[in-house]
Amino acid sequence: MKHQEIMLNTLIKTNKLNGFSEEEIGDDHIYTGLETPMKSNAFKISDEEKKDKIAHLFSEIMDVMGLDLEDDSLKGTPNRVAKMYIDEIFSGLNPANKPKVALFDNKYQYNQMLVEKNITFYSNCEHHFVPIIGKAHIAYISSGKVIGLSKLNRIVQYYAKRPQVQERLTNQIAAELSQILETDDIAVIIDAKHLCVSSRGIKDDTSATVTSFYGGVFNTSNKITELQNYLNH
Ligand SMILES: [Zn+2]
Repeated sequence: MKHQEIMLNTLIKTNKLNGFSEEEIGDDHIYTGLETPMKSNAFKISDEEKKDKIAHLFSEIMDVMGLDLEDDSLKGTPNRVAKMYIDEIFSGLNPANKPKVALFDNKYQYNQMLVEKNITFYSNCEHHFVPIIGKAHIAYISSGKVIGLSKLNRIVQYYAKRPQVQERLTNQIAAELSQILETDDIAVIIDAKHLCVSSRGIKDDTSATVTSFYGGVFNTSNKITELQNYLNH
């Protein structure tokens, strides 16, 4: 076991992480780093094996809750959940599903900011496994290369399809774009509703969470104002 894992296990056992209890980490949505915390052997077993295991384990959860798995309506649920987890809503955990992005020369010599706004996404809160529904707005200034507009959308969807916290989602999208486009001039704004806040816990149905990343020239009040003007149109 790596030192970090040992430390984490010790912290979990003592039920404290950076002084926060597990309950506090969940309800206050504290997150621990840019990378999605994954085990080193995360992809040693195939997707098919994962689906079999998840279906089995989910049927146990349903059984413990007292649900009748012989019922026609329920008996397919463990398999449906397993398939949905691996093939759809958590498919972004697997790097094999990362969108392939081709770069093009910036032929039009367009050197102002390009804004792709209102990218709708569905994610899931990693603390409660309930949906996060939101919109992402992305902007970049080309360093000489551009990517297809639909790829901006696909990058958002890829990182959204993981158990997430909004701050990490924002930063992961920004880091990916910065790497692909070879520039620091990236902005990402996410405006989302967390069902773990609206449908349970504090039950606030009207609040939304906004996070942002402003890199390079976007980290200036001029550019932030310009970007806000695009977003308000
Ligand atoms: Zn949550």
